Amino acid sequence: MSVEINRTGGRGPIDFNQVAPVKFPGFQMTDGPSYDDMTRCIHCGLCLQNCPTYRETGMETESPRGRLYLMRAFAEGTIEADNPNLHKHLDLCLQCRACETACPSGVRYGHLIEKTLDELNHRPEVEEKRRTPAQKAIRWLVFRQLFPKPRNMRFFGLASRLYQQSGLQSLTRRAGLLRWPVWKKLGLGKIGDLELMMPKISQPIFTAPESELVPARTEQRYRVALFSGCIMSVALAQVNEATVRVLTRNYSDVVIPNTQSCCGALNVHNGDRDYGQEMARRNIEAFEKAEARFGKLDAIIINAAGCGSTLKEYGELLANDPVYHERAERFARKVKDISEYLVGIKFNRDFGRLETTVTYQDACHLIHAQRIQKPPRVLLNAVPGLKLIEMRDSDKCCGSAGIYNVTQYDMSMKILDHKMERVAETGAGCVVSGNPGCHIQLQLGVRRSGINETRDEPVEVVHLVQLLDQAYRAGEAHD
Ligand code: SF4
Ligand code: SF4
Repeated sequence: MSVEINRTGGRGPIDFNQVAPVKFPGFQMTDGPSYDDMTRCIHCGLCLQNCPTYRETGMETESPRGRLYLMRAFAEGTIEADNPNLHKHLDLCLQCRACETACPSGVRYGHLIEKTLDELNHRPEVEEKRRTPAQKAIRWLVFRQLFPKPRNMRFFGLASRLYQQSGLQSLTRRAGLLRWPVWKKLGLGKIGDLELMMPKISQPIFTAPESELVPARTEQRYRVALFSGCIMSVALAQVNEATVRVLTRNYSDVVIPNTQSCCGALNVHNGDRDYGQEMARRNIEAFEKAEARFGKLDAIIINAAGCGSTLKEYGELLANDPVYHERAERFARKVKDISEYLVGIKFNRDFGRLETTVTYQDACHLIHAQRIQKPPRVLLNAVPGLKLIEMRDSDKCCGSAGIYNVTQYDMSMKILDHKMERVAETGAGCVVSGNPGCHIQLQLGVRRSGINETRDEPVEVVHLVQLLDQAYRAGEAHD
């Protein structure tokens, strides 16, 4: 079926005000992308070598160009929504957006795949034919009950901590309980491998102070709000704590609204845009309320690259919402990654020495989606004694990609193993990143690769703010 483009008809120039937007026949339940967005690919292939799944497989169908071809065919109605090949190739995409960085034609790949997955998710035939009862239950649990509900997320964090600290985890692993054949019969054959990914939840969960405000430790010049995030608050509370300390040492009062929720990135990336929009509305209200209480916010700070890129796209996510669209645009303009913010305000340089060698892994949603490459390096290079060793392919995905390492375990591990070869080449004792997913994935990579067996000191994985926090403390100890 071909795409129908409404034209004004007749001779002479087209009056574009009278040209109705093209509605692709494949998009029956949702608006779908614009015609311009869907047709911008010129098939040059410059993105191919930037694509991790193409580099792993060498297959056109696992490349950005191949997937764009499939998405367009679906949009034009020549591939059915429940076609298994369509799902297979789209599902293997990491949504890392490395193809966008390479593309000379400005193809908005991330936007296109999000819109396509959203349509597929709304189609009853996909729900009926393509998903097993276990998959439906997991989607409901993860996208509707866990991430959107902070209370459930905290409960999950506490239960995981109990599982780890009570000895149940080591018992389960020793007895091989999660390797029993019954799991395979239930369609959960990888559960034993997935359990090994679990980060160590050793700290109390990060919560906002009752006052919702942490005052600046240095002369106060700015007022910012912290977007504390769901995974970061539960699995890496120490990163949020370090972020608050770093901000308060950088002339900033930090407001932490306690009614904020998950940013909705996982929902948006997995075809659940409606619920992602719902979470965006909740967050906009929470930060507006904080602004009404504490006064104008200079920025909304985020220390998780994946969340940051979604928060910056709230305007587009709520483009058709007459009540929230402008508020979403205003919210999005304030969002700053922590590295972007610190470099923008000419950060406090009262660092002590850190005698360490580090290498930096660019989180995909920082370098490709937000185009932030220099600020983290500026900050690392400002720490006396710290030596930054650049890693080959630091801009290539580590294989984490939200829940990709759970849904596409085998490909994720192949990509991770290659990443760890690059880490090993640097000889650095520490890998720095700016995203919780990468952090947890790289920790797994350290364990999987056995890299520590070749080192006197174990390789550490840290968030950028943890190093900065350490450097400020070293500076204070010296004073
Ligand atoms: S988003 Fe990443 S994995 Fe997907 S097509 Fe683009 S480069 Fe490849
Ligand atoms: S997505 Fe961009 S880089 Fe890739 S083939 Fe199309 S036009 Fe070329």
